[in-house]
Amino acid sequence: MERITTDILISGGGIAGMTAACAFGAAGFDVICVDPMPPVTEASNPQADLRSTAFLQPARNTLISAGIWKHLQAYATPLEIMRLADAGGEVNEIRKVADFVAAEISDEPFAWNLPNWLLRREMLKRIDELDNVTFLTGVETKRITPRLDTAYVQLSNGTQVVCKMVLAADGRNSPARDMAGIDAKTWRFGQKAIVFSVSHTEPHQNISTEIHRTGGPFTLVPLPDQNGKHYSAVIWMETGPKASDLMKLDDTAFNTAINERSCGILGTLTLETRRVTWPMISRLAERLDGPRIALIAEAAHVIPPIGAQGLNMSLTDIQCLLDLALESPDTLGSQEMLTAYNKARHKDIKTRVTGVNLLNRAAMTETDNLKALRLKGLQALHGLAPIRKTLMRKGLGSV
Ligand SMILES: Cc1cc2nc3c(=O)[nH]c(=O)nc-3n(C[C@H](O)[C@H](O)[C@H](O)COP(=O)(O)OP(=O)(O)OC[C@H]3O[C@@H](n4cnc5c(N)ncnc54)[C@H](O)[C@@H]3O)c2cc1C
Repeated sequence: MERITTDILISGGGIAGMTAACAFGAAGFDVICVDPMPPVTEASNPQADLRSTAFLQPARNTLISAGIWKHLQAYATPLEIMRLADAGGEVNEIRKVADFVAAEISDEPFAWNLPNWLLRREMLKRIDELDNVTFLTGVETKRITPRLDTAYVQLSNGTQVVCKMVLAADGRNSPARDMAGIDAKTWRFGQKAIVFSVSHTEPHQNISTEIHRTGGPFTLVPLPDQNGKHYSAVIWMETGPKASDLMKLDDTAFNTAINERSCGILGTLTLETRRVTWPMISRLAERLDGPRIALIAEAAHVIPPIGAQGLNMSLTDIQCLLDLALESPDTLGSQEMLTAYNKARHKDIKTRVTGVNLLNRAAMTETDNLKALRLKGLQALHGLAPIRKTLMRKGLGSV
C-alpha cells in the first residue's frame, strides 16, 4: 500500500474543491485533491455544467489571491445592476421594477459572471502551475480515520494519505460528512430550476434581471456576446410538475414559453443550448467541523439560486479556513482551529439559508394577498435609500 503525507486532503474536486486547492496551494500548503470524476471542460460535452456563477466582490478577492482570477478575467461579464421585476398580476406583465445599482455602494460591479464549465477549465490551468498541489481524478475517498495529530484517508486506488486536515468538498450528498457522523437538515420546495442560455435582441447592459411570478423567479444573467448576438444564462424556477411540462416542449414551443415568461424585457429570446433541470432544496449541516475535518461548500450548505449566494458562501468558507490556517499554521486541522471555523461561519450560513428559504417561499406564493404583499415589500425595500444600500451590502456579505 502506498502512503503519502501532505498538509491537506481535499475530498471533491468540484468548483469549491478546486478553488480550495488553489487557495491553500498558493499560500504554501501541500495539498492533494481527489475526485472520482474528471472535470468536464467543454460546453459541447453532454455532461458539461451549463450553469454560470456570479462571483460577488469578496469571492473575487479570494480568487485573486489564489491566483485563479488572472485566468478568468478575460471571460468574466461584470454585473453592474441587479434588477428585480414583479410580474405577479393577473396577466403576465411587469408591474414594478426595482434596480439595485452597484455604483451606489462601490466603485466596482456587484459581481462577475462566468460559465461553470469554463471555471473548471481555467482552474485546472492554475492547479497545473502549483507544484505543491496534486489533483487525482478517478479516485474517491473511502474512509477517514482521525487521530490526535493527523488523519488517515483511505483512497479507492489503495493509497493511504496522511494529512493534518481533511476538507470535505464532496457536494450536497457528502460521503465525508457521513463518515464524520455529522447530520444535515434538508428543506424541500417541490420546485425545479431549468437552466439554459439564450440569445436576445436587446443588449443586457450588464444588468442581471430576476422576474418574479408564481412558481419562482426567472433570472437572466449576462454573458459575453457571441457571434454578433447578445447572450444571457437563464435560471427558470418552477413547481416540479410545471417544470416537467416545460421540459417536454419542443424548442419552438419552449421559445414561445420563455418569451411569454420574460415579458419581452430583453426583446426576443432564442434558446441556444440544451436545457437541464436541478431539483431545488436547501440543506444545512448541523456543524462544520469534526475531528480533523472541515465541511465546506455544498457539503455544508445548499440553497436555491437566489441572489447568487451558493458558491459565494463556499468561497467565504475557504477564505475563513485559510485565514485561520495562516494565523497559526502549527494548529492546522486541530480541534481549536476547526471549532473556531465552525463558530465563525455556522451562524452566518444559517441566517442566509433561512433568508433564502423565506425569499423562495415568498417568490413561489400563489395567494393574491401574499402576491400583493410581495409587490409592496419590493416597493418598500427599494424606495428607502438606506435600506436599499444595507440590503446590497448584506447581499455582498459585507454587513
Ligand atoms: C441552477 C443553479 C444555479 C446556481 N447559480 C449560482 C450562482 O450564480 N452563484 C453562486 O454563488 N452559486 C450558484 N449556485 C450554487 C453552485 O452552483 C454550487 O454551490 C456549486 O456548484 C457546488 O459546488 P461544490 O464544489 O460544493 O459541489 P459539486 O460541484 O457537487 O462537487 C462535489 C464533487 O465531489 C465529488 N465527490 C463525491 N463523492 C466523493 C468522494 N467520495 N471522494 C471524492 N470526491 C467525491 C463529486 O464527483 C464532485 O465533483 C447555483 C446552483 C444551481 C443548482
